[in-house]
Amino acid sequence: MDSTKLIWMNGSLVPWDDAKVHVLVHGLHYGSAVFEGVRCYEQPDGKVGIFRLDEHTDRLLYSANALGMEVPFSKEELNQAQIETVRENQLNGGYVRPLIYYGYGKMGLNPVGAPVDVSIACWPWGAYLGGDTVDIKISDYIRIHPKTSVTDAKISGHYVNSIMASLEVHEDDRYHEALFLDYEGNVAEGPGENLFLVKDGKLHTPQLGTILGGITRASLIQIAADEGYETVERVIAPDELWDSEEAFFTGTAAEVCGITSVDQKPIGSGEMGPVTAKLREIYANAVRGGDERYKKWVTVV
Ligand code: PMP
Repeated sequence: MDSTKLIWMNGSLVPWDDAKVHVLVHGLHYGSAVFEGVRCYEQPDGKVGIFRLDEHTDRLLYSANALGMEVPFSKEELNQAQIETVRENQLNGGYVRPLIYYGYGKMGLNPVGAPVDVSIACWPWGAYLGGDTVDIKISDYIRIHPKTSVTDAKISGHYVNSIMASLEVHEDDRYHEALFLDYEGNVAEGPGENLFLVKDGKLHTPQLGTILGGITRASLIQIAADEGYETVERVIAPDELWDSEEAFFTGTAAEVCGITSVDQKPIGSGEMGPVTAKLREIYANAVRGGDERYKKWVTVV
């Protein structure tokens, strides 16, 4: 991976190579950590802007709360720390990864009494899914059941579910990404992306409940509304995938990515559709501060 110079750890910036932890860190053993994936982009004036920083920090703290963490930093301090990390690394675009984890000093599953540590790293990171469109496969694994955990929290341990699906689909080079169904057999989401369908002039996306409430998902719903497309959040049966004109994934890392086939069967024309292309372009412009309507979503560093 590409590195930068400094990583923020518990209040100070330390050299990248010194950002180390003990092997008995609680979070390493049990997945008792929470994280965010945030992107920053170069803005028209050459400065760098962090996209939807506030919403990411809110979700980070929501996730930490779900794990019973007493976070030793306020929301404002965490926002400032992310800004400082991007600024001091002179990153002009890339990815920011805040992580809050139960640290070293206590073993056993009950984390109470373990310290709560915070780190923030950033680095340059290009297209997460490797291209503008993907061919995907419905995973044999299902998205974790809503009663398994607090499924709308971004808890590190949940990501074993995503890792299993990723390992499964990447065994076969015809697929770029997985798709999870939920415990009732309905469409849920990707391992790190939300899914949208375009049908009859509307967007359709799985309702909240088992999925992560994506910040890109929320941004796309707003952008689509501003362009005159209603989004219906509802239960989606897998058959509806192939019955749609278009499909796309959204995610901070994945951005907006067309889905051209599911299980080797084409969606719509089998190419990125016009609605996807249009919303994707507006999103790409918004994150780069090129759209007045969405400048409020960008925190300039
Ligand atoms: N679902 C899952 C499981 C994810 O990990 C992510 C990435 N955070 C998403 C959806 C998309 O969320 P966001 O748009 O907030 O990045």
